[in-house]
Amino acid sequence: MQPLTDFTAQSFLPVSEHSDFPIQNIPFGVIERPDELFVCASRIGDTAIDLNAIQQLGYFDALELPEGLFGQEALNEFISLGQPVWRAVRSRIAELYTVGSELEFRTSQREEIEWPIADIDAVLPVLVGDYTDFYASREHATNVGSMFRDPANALLPNWLHLPVGYHGRSSTILESGMPVRRPHGQRKGPQDPTPVFGPSIKVDFELEMAFITGDGPVGETPIPIEIAEEHIFGLVLLNDWSARDIQQWEYVPLGPFLAKNFATSISPWIVTLDALAPFRTDRPSQEDPMPLPYLQQEPAGANVDVHLEVAIAPQGHAETVVCRSNFKYMYWSMAQQLAHHTINGCLINSGDCMGSGTISGPEKGSFGSMLEITWNGQEPVSLADGSTRSFIEDGDTVTMRGYSEKNGLRIGFGEVSATLIPALSWKAPSTSKN
Ligand code: CA
Repeated sequence: MQPLTDFTAQSFLPVSEHSDFPIQNIPFGVIERPDELFVCASRIGDTAIDLNAIQQLGYFDALELPEGLFGQEALNEFISLGQPVWRAVRSRIAELYTVGSELEFRTSQREEIEWPIADIDAVLPVLVGDYTDFYASREHATNVGSMFRDPANALLPNWLHLPVGYHGRSSTILESGMPVRRPHGQRKGPQDPTPVFGPSIKVDFELEMAFITGDGPVGETPIPIEIAEEHIFGLVLLNDWSARDIQQWEYVPLGPFLAKNFATSISPWIVTLDALAPFRTDRPSQEDPMPLPYLQQEPAGANVDVHLEVAIAPQGHAETVVCRSNFKYMYWSMAQQLAHHTINGCLINSGDCMGSGTISGPEKGSFGSMLEITWNGQEPVSLADGSTRSFIEDGDTVTMRGYSEKNGLRIGFGEVSATLIPALSWKAPSTSKN
């Protein structure tokens, strides 16, 4: 097999030095063109590449793809075709866009294919059927357990034996750029005799990554850990918006519910595991305790080194970076998560979204939520405009960015960004009997 990444390849499209999208990336997404047509696309530098146009011009003919595969509002059908097809399409796009290709000087064809990023909208890349959110960072789970339960027993007894997760809602997965409304809900502080209802006063972000799945194997439901990554199409950045006051009151005993499902923002370009191959790194060791056999995996190369950061920009002001973390800190790898998720017969489908859980590093400054950064509001952070934050305020824009870098090659995700807007004015239903 050819190596997945040709470090020396160059595109004839302009790519700036710090671009997340060199020709070695070739991510997949869906764009809305200026003529309001939605098509599947890739991206090099600041140029979106219309895959529907490439297919119609015959450049994918040798791959014998289904007709109209890319003239759709989601990548699900393409993802359903499986890893060999993802690889063939990705390498064909790279071939077409390498200096000296058959396409380089076909100007009129290129005008049909290429769109400046500034002229299009990158929208939700998949129709997410099911959304699962894990809780796979040991540092995050320890911080939250210390705050809400007991620092001496911060991790619950199951945590080191299985990747803890819960089923979220796909209906409120939002494309980057869509505003998020402050939710209403119930909360009950320690001093409150009874619960109160109103807008959440502790809206938070959670810095996560998510993998988008392909279909599970035909005829057998558990996905063995050894081949789990064959069923992972790629990764996005994910902000799992959370209402901490609602969460703390509602989560017992079944876990997150309305504190989590009002909004989840994801970045628009799905970066494939093949593009991330040069940045594989070791997972933390799992010897004490050793996981059960179906979860055992060599730590070497099980994780991915992705630099992550979160910035807050108050309305009308410059942003301040409040967190720098890394995807490599995950205790449970993506392969372990997928193997565990399907071990009971649970089916996965093309376009399912599996969040990592908040990615916190070991030190302050690398914590992936305001809950941890400000220790539940006790230590507010200062922003560049002179204001402070315990949690997210109305008008704040939260932006997450991520990239991998090695030997001069940078593969990135762009960003996921959203502004928190004020709660709806809410009037209690009349209790009058008439
Ligand atoms: Ca989460």
